[in-house]
Amino acid sequence: MNRLLTLAMASACFTVLTHGASAAGNPLLIENVTLLSPEQAQPLGNRYVLIRDGRIAVISDRPITAPAGVRRLDGAGKFLTPGLTDAHVHVSDAIGLPFGSQDPGLLSLEKDFFAQQPRSYLYFGVTQVLDTANRPERVALFAAQPQHPDTYRCGVAPVVDGYPLVFVDKAIRHKIFNDYIFEPANAAEHPLPAGANAAAHTPEAVVDRIAASGAICVKIALEDGFGDRNDWPNMSAETLRRVRAATSKHGLFLAVHANALDMQRMAVDGNVDLILHGIWNWNQLNDSQGIPAAVADHLRNVRDKKIGYQATLRVIPGVTDLLDPALLDDPVYTKVVPPRLLAWYRTEPAQWFKRQVFGPEVNAAAVIAGARAANAQWATSEKGMRALRHLYELGQPMLLGSDTPSAPTYGNQPGYDTYKEMQLMVQAGIPLSAIFAAGTINNARQIGLEKEYGTIEQGKIANLLLLEANPLASVDAWTRIDKVILRGEPIERDTLAADATGH
Ligand SMILES: [Zn+2]
Repeated sequence: MNRLLTLAMASACFTVLTHGASAAGNPLLIENVTLLSPEQAQPLGNRYVLIRDGRIAVISDRPITAPAGVRRLDGAGKFLTPGLTDAHVHVSDAIGLPFGSQDPGLLSLEKDFFAQQPRSYLYFGVTQVLDTANRPERVALFAAQPQHPDTYRCGVAPVVDGYPLVFVDKAIRHKIFNDYIFEPANAAEHPLPAGANAAAHTPEAVVDRIAASGAICVKIALEDGFGDRNDWPNMSAETLRRVRAATSKHGLFLAVHANALDMQRMAVDGNVDLILHGIWNWNQLNDSQGIPAAVADHLRNVRDKKIGYQATLRVIPGVTDLLDPALLDDPVYTKVVPPRLLAWYRTEPAQWFKRQVFGPEVNAAAVIAGARAANAQWATSEKGMRALRHLYELGQPMLLGSDTPSAPTYGNQPGYDTYKEMQLMVQAGIPLSAIFAAGTINNARQIGLEKEYGTIEQGKIANLLLLEANPLASVDAWTRIDKVILRGEPIERDTLAADATGH
């Protein structure tokens, strides 16, 4: 089994909810700006956009008569885009901190993290997030911060003892993940937990509860073990069929954790709506070059059935980046990590996850070189990129999901990882226009929110970005944000930084 891959995925993937800032004050008028909206084939120069009550009210190619009390933004030389949606995040995890510690010092760092986290997403232009499942109260905490992206979540429905419960202590796993499903096919070895009511853990009952919780999606896992492992209790095709039917009945969408070829095939056969990971485990075809026929067939089926596909290219590098001795010297870290937490990342105790993955001598050059040479996951990420490029060439709409954090690694940081995911998409050969669509209209459509987000059109929520450079010319433009406009309120980017004073 591939240990790194196992650990990389240990905390991954399993959680609605609330919206950004309250409706805006006075109207906002953005003047003489170049408008970039993904449904337009070309940038539209010299546009005037009036925002009222947090929504786009008027778009015009000539100056607009300003209403009383209007605030003006000069857009000359700048680009106005929709805010980005990252449709795969986990805001419940205080990144890098050990789970469940009651140490007062660490709890205070955790508090700093949760206060900064939503601002770090905004700092990188992420104005909508989809939490694909974790602890609803932590997601609510995220959305309770004064400045935060509009926040949506999936409810998670694992099977008894299945992934991700395999990583949670047996005594508490079914209490933390209480919307679990009893899987009759696994009954002999994984019976209903003692004291549980069988009627509350059918696919229908669980999906009813998730729908009532305000989630917009149901998340399940098709995972029988990482790497070559296949001994974890998995969902049967019959249970998947019932979950699919119940999810459709409530008008939710069905998202699935699956990253191996056999598991993704099951997802396609089960007519899921969204696969939350790229296919980087090709099972027995792992050593193949190019795109093996079986993988190509599968990707064609994904496209033909119009199933959404998130590449999540950052999952593996987010862990292997821990081996980079200069990682914490990256100046961007001072912008997205609270100062005291960043100082703690440099301490010995903070290396616990790195040691767990790479062994005790984590800073030895030989370990780093060996990990790079021997760990198949360096290649798995490369395979994920190859598969993504292939899918793009088949005409599949690209999506943006960073899976931040995919593991308790400080190599994944909120917002910054969304940007790094886009950089990896560029590296995979995806054009900038397709990446723009991925982070805007395609993601909005995929999660059923295209009436609210994804384009600059009259009536949509005014979550917008004013950029100093054109993101259709360079991916770096997504870091050259002048202002983040959240529900019609312009925010100076610098004030969102973790090292900004006065917050
Ligand atoms: Zn995830």
